[in-house]
Amino acid sequence: MPSDRPHILISNDDGIDAPGIVALAAAAAARFPAVTVVAPATEQSGTSHALTLRRPVRVETRGPGAGPARPAGSGWFAVEGTPTDCVSLALFQLLPAAGRPDLVLSGINAGYNLGEDVTYSGTVAAALEARMAGVPSLAISTARDADPASLAAAAEVAVRLAAEVLARGLPEDALLNINVPPNPRGYRVTRQGRRGAFDGVIERPAGTAREFYFVGLPPSTWLHEDGADHAAVAEGFVSITPLHGDLTFHRARPLVEGWGVADWVLPTPPGRETR
Ligand code: MN
Repeated sequence: MPSDRPHILISNDDGIDAPGIVALAAAAAARFPAVTVVAPATEQSGTSHALTLRRPVRVETRGPGAGPARPAGSGWFAVEGTPTDCVSLALFQLLPAAGRPDLVLSGINAGYNLGEDVTYSGTVAAALEARMAGVPSLAISTARDADPASLAAAAEVAVRLAAEVLARGLPEDALLNINVPPNPRGYRVTRQGRRGAFDGVIERPAGTAREFYFVGLPPSTWLHEDGADHAAVAEGFVSITPLHGDLTFHRARPLVEGWGVADWVLPTPPGRETR
């Protein structure tokens, strides 16, 4: 049941001072009556769905107007943690007084989140965390080098889709992964694409001692498949991929059952050998 006064929670993985989240918050604040930003204090790209478990997590309130131009009418919290920490803290600690959000937006990420890259993405993980807590969510990404006008346009695409999700709802467990190219020609609903060749993530040693390496994703070569996210973006369309948190590969279940695992003899724990 959509709220009359929707409350939007915004997070990201590029950090609270990144231009993408400021553009997204500005567009959301212009469209929706209540916007709260809970985002990492520092960049957390590539942290996926990580939780901070072994140290306390500091939260700092930042008012509108401090730092980059933060839109009025929005509350800002900087978290010394991961995108997943941010969404979890927001939903279960920071927001109960203000009310549970109706929707979570994560982004706008500097760099597309296409194909298998969604598994590395803190941007997508923040949206997944929200969805796991029962709050509909969208992850929004654009080109790494997007200029301010392109960021503003991507933010408009995000709030357009947010309004649609608030009005129509999404299936339980579904989140939307949105990738917005510059000057989009239209919208396409896509599937998560796949890399043709995977060359690993280790780019090169730093220095000569070969003791340190830079870890990053090399340029992607994608498989050509109908409806793939990367193809839509390459052709200039906004890519909308519905994702869900269930990683089960259902078609493989009968195959693995066919190994006869139900009849396998179990290992005997030490000390319990039958004599
Ligand atoms: Mn990022």
